[in-house]
Amino acid sequence: MVGGSRPDVAVVGGGPIGLAVAWRCAARGLRVSLYDATPGSGASDVAAGMLAPVAESYFGERVLTGLLVESAGRWPGFAAELAEYTGLDLGYRTEGTLTVALTSDDLAEAERLWTYQRNLGLPVTPLRPAELRDREPLLTTRLRGGALAPGDHQVDPRRLVAALRVAVERAGVTLVSRPVRQLAELDAAVTVVAAGCGTAALTGLPVRPVKGQILRLRAPRGATPGFRHVIRGHADGRHVYLVPRTDGEVVVGATVEERADLDVTAGAVLDLLRSATDVIPDLAEYELVEARSGLRPGTPDNVPLLGPLPGRPEVVVATGHFRHGIVLTPLTADLVADLLATGVPDPALAPLSPARFGAPVPLSPAWFGAPVPPGRPGRPGAVGGAMPAARPAGAGSVGGSAPGGEPGPGGESGPGGESGSGVGAVGGSGPGGESGSGVGAVGGPVPGGESGPDDGTSRVGRTRWS
Ligand SMILES: Cc1cc2nc3c(=O)[nH]c(=O)nc-3n(C[C@H](O)[C@H](O)[C@H](O)COP(=O)(O)OP(=O)(O)OC[C@H]3O[C@@H](n4cnc5c(N)ncnc54)[C@H](O)[C@@H]3O)c2cc1C
Repeated sequence: MVGGSRPDVAVVGGGPIGLAVAWRCAARGLRVSLYDATPGSGASDVAAGMLAPVAESYFGERVLTGLLVESAGRWPGFAAELAEYTGLDLGYRTEGTLTVALTSDDLAEAERLWTYQRNLGLPVTPLRPAELRDREPLLTTRLRGGALAPGDHQVDPRRLVAALRVAVERAGVTLVSRPVRQLAELDAAVTVVAAGCGTAALTGLPVRPVKGQILRLRAPRGATPGFRHVIRGHADGRHVYLVPRTDGEVVVGATVEERADLDVTAGAVLDLLRSATDVIPDLAEYELVEARSGLRPGTPDNVPLLGPLPGRPEVVVATGHFRHGIVLTPLTADLVADLLATGVPDPALAPLSPARFGAPVPLSPAWFGAPVPPGRPGRPGAVGGAMPAARPAGAGSVGGSAPGGEPGPGGESGPGGESGSGVGAVGGSGPGGESGSGVGAVGGPVPGGESGPDDGTSRVGRTRWS
């Protein structure tokens, strides 16, 4: 550990990723400060919390699937450790996920995906309609077929963040309640940028906001929902998921829209409710308690950005988790903390390097919505048009509280350079008793075929559930 008041690690962003990284770094004996004016106000505040490596494995995303499988495998231990350390319930549930199809077209689409997933060796078992309704009697009688993914679990992201906040404080992390406008403000041996959609403004990396609208229903008269599995529906060409919580809540989601506003639209609410009640008609009796939107931090290839910023080994990025930041929390935290504690990058980090998109583009507020800079590969910022500079990365809401406070872009200029070199271990004292195992197999080739388009569309944009 470095002497004086200078921390070993400054973490920017107090979402699940930044908090978990801070917790794991502190557990390794590093002195950590975490900066966020409104921790937990980003995408995690609306996220459903599906931990679904099987149901979320799609054509063309084999690197991502490897990460999801590896991280989901760490979830039982991570959840148990965090719950024990804090004494808090995370709402972690292991009943598994049922995917159902309502029409023959829906079934054809779903079967294609199940075949792909089974070819990867992932555990997914097709079920007939009667078998589905044996497991969940509230399912519609319109079923054509379905499948069970027993290893696809769920957690409540709001409870997760609350527990991580307690954990970091117990572990001695210093919480600094303000946004970071430029990385140059920070004085630490290493800075970890885990600012979700705020990362682009701080680093110039191609992280774009992808909007998701989502609803929360509540079972009548304080009851628990009448179903236990996470249910994902292919419903008349639309996609919907239903996540039941033990506290009576059912999360209904979600749209995936290439835009950066936080409006909750009537069309999205209509489509989500129609699909939800098509799958479980009884949901029409539930109370609609929240309609929100949030911004997922997307990357050009849907794979996170983990590792040193090109040309700046003292800045490590942990972002771009897009639709999977909750399931990827344990793996991300372990990989980053191991890197900082040992200076040795896990082989699993190689395909996640921020250097894979070239040098970061220096940003100014005018960059948002501006034309693609020449020579920039796969710049996604133009997708969906304007990216407002000062909108909160948290959530818009109807009838709910809308946390805000996301700063506008700070204009930090990422210098060019392409080194992508590793970082030195920070802190003089050795690791604090946590031995992260290697994950060399993650991201490696996964057996099985690959083909074709990978998702459907709905009236509210292309949907892919989470
Ligand atoms: C509708 C919806 C459903 C989802 N469902 C799932 C799901 O079922 N499963 C799953 O795994 N994932 C899901 N996700 C994705 C998941 O929420 C994100 O991938 C995850 O929240 C990313 O975590 P994060 O910590 O990187 O970013 P965020 O959760 O967005 O947090 C970023 C934090 O950084 C802070 N910040 C930003 N800029 C700055 C700055 N300049 N200075 C200081 N702090 C800053 C913000 O205040 C915020 O607290 C969903 C997302 C949405 C929108």
